[in-house]
Amino acid sequence: MRRVYLDNNATTRMRQEVLDAMLPYLGDLYGNPSSVHAFGRVTRKAIDDARAQVAGLIGAESPEEVIFTSGGTESDNFAIRGVAHALKSKGDHIITSTIEHHAVLNTCKALEKEGYRISSIGVDKDGIVDVDALTEAITDKTILISIMYANNEVGTIEPIEAIGSIARQRGVSFHTDAVQAVGKIPFRVCDLNVDLLSLSAHKIYGPKGVGALYIRKKTKITPMLSGGHHEMSKRAGTENVPGIVGLGRASELAGAELPREAAHLTALRDRLYRGILERIDSVRLNGHPQARLANTLNVSFTYLEGESIILNLDMEGVAVSTGSACTSGSLEPSHVLTAMGVDPVNAQGSIRFSLGRDTTGDDIDYVLTVLPPIVARLRAMSPLYEGQAKKK
Ligand code: PLP
Repeated sequence: MRRVYLDNNATTRMRQEVLDAMLPYLGDLYGNPSSVHAFGRVTRKAIDDARAQVAGLIGAESPEEVIFTSGGTESDNFAIRGVAHALKSKGDHIITSTIEHHAVLNTCKALEKEGYRISSIGVDKDGIVDVDALTEAITDKTILISIMYANNEVGTIEPIEAIGSIARQRGVSFHTDAVQAVGKIPFRVCDLNVDLLSLSAHKIYGPKGVGALYIRKKTKITPMLSGGHHEMSKRAGTENVPGIVGLGRASELAGAELPREAAHLTALRDRLYRGILERIDSVRLNGHPQARLANTLNVSFTYLEGESIILNLDMEGVAVSTGSACTSGSLEPSHVLTAMGVDPVNAQGSIRFSLGRDTTGDDIDYVLTVLPPIVARLRAMSPLYEGQAKKK
């Protein structure tokens, strides 16, 4: 059976070049980077090189502003908890948005229990954060703003530069979760006015379980882990050398290929959407029509449940995902679509297609062959769709 992977926002296939770069550090090059002898010096150099590669991709002023972590979740936790704890004497107020990843949402919830106050700013129908409401929410007790760069479910790209300059003017630290943006949008942290930026290797064709947090020089942050003086005394623990080397190589490749990759993905994504519109009725695009990641297409098939479409596509070898999460047996509509004002019927029927560097035109054509009969079959069984068809 043909297999088509369109779930690259969940994770990506590691590139061969990345694996090749990592392998020596899973074998002969096993020294502890903190050791002063030759074994240690080799792995220390590998980490320094990777730090420079990541700094290069995001346009950091100096590699020392890049701290390696265990992934996007840890980077988000570190940024938000670290700044909140460091600035506790200055204020207790944090601003975020309603469409953040749970790594941010649940970290903020945990801080609320510690006594911090959280303002969650809403978004418009396309998923763009309300910048006026965000500006108004800032008080002299605000210590941190955390707004994601690009949304993982619908791909909407937020006005990070504008939010960054507001934060800078008001003297508030600014964090952005750029896990989905890195390698997909060209940017330089120095142009964005961000103080902290999270990224993750497995979203850019690198290994799982490794990521980084960019921390602009002079940003006040309290480490989360107690231990040795690793990572400029910001993140204790012997470094994940093979993972870090993989992240470095993946960053280098992502930077070099970004413009070509974005054009390739946009063309395929739009071909998929056009094809869906031509073949299937009652379809709705979720996310901003233009300010959207080149690889992301989130579509609602009205009157259906996304899960049924996913299972049927899976039987045809096609891997996609849904915006709605299945929580304790009940189908909860996605918090992102709900925040965008998408009605429950459309929110339940949403599917996220996230393309990647390996996606081909043939893959898209295959999806356009198998998807319409699935939707037709499921709608024939849907009482909601039946009722609607009778009305017409
Ligand atoms: N933030 C966003 C926007 C994400 O999409 C993800 C992963 O899906 C994460 C954070 C978490 O990253 P990781 O899987 O590396 O912990």
